Amino acid sequence: MDLHDVVIIGSGPAGLTAALYTARANLKPVVVEGLLPGGQLMNTTEVENYPGFEHGITGPDLMEVMRKQAERFGAVYVPGDVTEVDFTSRPFRVRTEGKELAARAMIVATGASPRTLDIPGEKELAGRGVSYCATCDGFFFRDQEIVVVGGGDSAMEEALFLTRFGKRVTVIHRRDRFRASKIMADRLLASDKVRVLWDSVPEEVLGKDGKVAAVRVRNLKTGAATEEPCGGFFVAIGHVPNTHVFRGILPMNAEGYLEIKHGSSHTNIPGVFAAGDVHDHVYRQAVTAAGAGCRAAIDCERWLESEGR
Ligand code: NAP
Repeated sequence: MDLHDVVIIGSGPAGLTAALYTARANLKPVVVEGLLPGGQLMNTTEVENYPGFEHGITGPDLMEVMRKQAERFGAVYVPGDVTEVDFTSRPFRVRTEGKELAARAMIVATGASPRTLDIPGEKELAGRGVSYCATCDGFFFRDQEIVVVGGGDSAMEEALFLTRFGKRVTVIHRRDRFRASKIMADRLLASDKVRVLWDSVPEEVLGKDGKVAAVRVRNLKTGAATEEPCGGFFVAIGHVPNTHVFRGILPMNAEGYLEIKHGSSHTNIPGVFAAGDVHDHVYRQAVTAAGAGCRAAIDCERWLESEGR
């Protein structure tokens, strides 16, 4: 088995920026791409707040550019997900679905995945009307009733995007005001194709002929239940960090976000660094993830140097 200087787990903005910096430091990084190469931005439409793109750029285009930029300096990509890690001795080892890799240093940038509601019908009808990605699936619900659950920026963005397709978009939110930024909430509320069910939660996704047909909604203030007919049911209620494989290996908080040493990207294992949404539950932006990837790369480079590399 080849021994690499650094293996980076994850290929979102954090992983690819870490790849760019470590590649330019001549560390020949190997990037394990994960199940969704490019990460969450692959499921986004326009990115208007990544500096350097005056007129915006689509998420997939941004990730393609980042990937090629790191590749130009020598980053190598390995497809698939990490199934097992061994950080107990050096070199560190990671196993992917088809490969085992050994490295002197590791950068964990596995990001986060959409949170699920865990209500009856959600899992059963996933891909049959239940979706976590408007960009991917919105097209299938042309001229249909669409429901979006959530009150954050993601829900606003998804719902607005879905107005391009749906007959009407109903946003279900569990409180009486959105968590989303004012600009996004205002944009949503200005659309005449959107209605909002405040103080409400979905209780069950109802299917007919193997597809989503309606959702049963409970108003938390009145206790009343209604059935909202819909073809598409989009869940946009935040994310959970992808840290399952590091449980019991790296320290994490109660929600599963990795803990790092204050002001750095060091985990409690020397030589293992973390970057991006996998530890950041506060900012969670592409640009902050990219910044964290840069920090992890520099920390990693300095650590390897201190170890005599
Ligand atoms: P978020 O800000 O955490 O919002 C999650 C929303 O889902 C909240 O409104 C929450 O309700 C609701 N929710 C959570 N669990 C629920 C459950 N079990 N049942 C019903 N509702 C539930 O997540 P996000 O919208 O994905 O945004 C994450 C971060 O990315 C934020 O920092 C956001 O600003 C950023 N973002 C930015 C953009 C942009 O600027 N273009 C786009 C997308 C995301 P409560 O409000 O009651 O907690």
